[in-house]
Amino acid sequence: MTSNRNIVIVGAGHGAGQAVMSLRSGGFDGHLILIGEEPYVPYQRPPLSKKFLAGELELDRLYFKPINFYSDKQIELMLSVRVIDVVPKQNYVKLHDGREVHYDKLILMTGSRVRKLDVPGADLPEVFYLRTIEDVESIRKHFAKNAKLIVVGGGYIGLEVAAVAVRLGLDVTVLEAADRLMPRVVGDEVADFFKHMHTQEGVKIETGKTVSGFEGKGKLKRVVCTDSTQFDADVAVIGVGILPNQELAEQAGLEVDNGIVVDEYCQTKNDDILAAGDCTNHPNAILGTRLRLESVHNALEQAKTAAATLCGSRKEYAQVPWFWSDQYDVKFQIAGLSQGYDEVVMRGDPSKKKFAAFYLKKGVLIAADAINAVQEYMASRKLIAQKAKIAPDRLADTNIPMKEMV
Ligand code: FAD
Repeated sequence: MTSNRNIVIVGAGHGAGQAVMSLRSGGFDGHLILIGEEPYVPYQRPPLSKKFLAGELELDRLYFKPINFYSDKQIELMLSVRVIDVVPKQNYVKLHDGREVHYDKLILMTGSRVRKLDVPGADLPEVFYLRTIEDVESIRKHFAKNAKLIVVGGGYIGLEVAAVAVRLGLDVTVLEAADRLMPRVVGDEVADFFKHMHTQEGVKIETGKTVSGFEGKGKLKRVVCTDSTQFDADVAVIGVGILPNQELAEQAGLEVDNGIVVDEYCQTKNDDILAAGDCTNHPNAILGTRLRLESVHNALEQAKTAAATLCGSRKEYAQVPWFWSDQYDVKFQIAGLSQGYDEVVMRGDPSKKKFAAFYLKKGVLIAADAINAVQEYMASRKLIAQKAKIAPDRLADTNIPMKEMV
């Protein structure tokens, strides 16, 4: 690789931190520029709804790499800078302040943004979303003991916020539009477990509640649902999904389809533009389908793949997706994607907060939810990659070690 090449990365998020690291370790010694609209060096978002929200983690512990890593590795940081346009014909990006930055190769790592609720009152000052450090800092100012918190959305982030808040002494209610928690990602058995656990901790779980508005004169007073039920509120946190930041790619004439379309090497149709992380729609050879993922593992692995592509050592991205969530004393680990399952096999004892739910499709293991069950989770990642068919009674039998099944 020539040393005078210019690589520009747009978006200085979690994946971008990995990308610059992998580019340097992969031998790229040219000019490397990281442009991000947030004022921070790349940081980890998962603690935002967990230990950082709980006040148990200092800001600098969020950083993916210490600040001096970037100067040591001669990475030019352009922070608090928004890219407003990509001009592919002339290989440069336009910044919000009018400057232009040339690239030989560009990696779009623009991540995703929260999906906003388009209902009256959503702009009241005590109504929040959670994506950035600033969001957490604003939310925490309202986390007073006994304050009434309404969490809109019973997905991972909503439930993590609820867990932190109730332990801090807030009066917490979760409103979920579906008839159970985490409807997009887990089966009934696991949803029931989480409902039971949160209820025991003092969180009120209200399913079948679609929020139609936030009310109060200049200050949030209550949250209203489409069935006319109302919930008093001092503060609300909304977690109803995210949208990929694909607009730059779209304006540049690249293909987008629920994410920036890339191949297994993170390459777009333009030879000089790659994309990685939350913002991509990518193929997954193991799952045999294209998908967009919202996970750290995907962002880090795609970052490595994009870096390898640019360093000339092609490394196909083919991974079993995995995620995690921490709620109270529960380590919840998810391997694979359960959509389309036709059978659920339970292993272990939910009442002991240690069990796994395996999702099968035509007998093949496609996903697993592991609650404080690391062995089950680790084995599942391998079994899913192997497209393993295991008899349900064996899977369920805790006397048979998971490693015997791999
Ligand atoms: P991001 O980290 O989102 O970074 C993208 C960056 O690009 C952002 O800083 C954005 O401001 C910037 N940007 C966008 N457009 C522009 C532009 N035009 N100009 C300049 N900069 C731009 N995943 C898990 O696997 N496990 C978890 O437990 C987990 N918990 C989470 C908790 C929270 C509260 C959140 C918000 C996310 C969580 N995630 C979790 C998801 C995970 O954090 C994301 O999947 C990951 O951050 C994606 O990395 P990324 O680099 O693709 O995007």
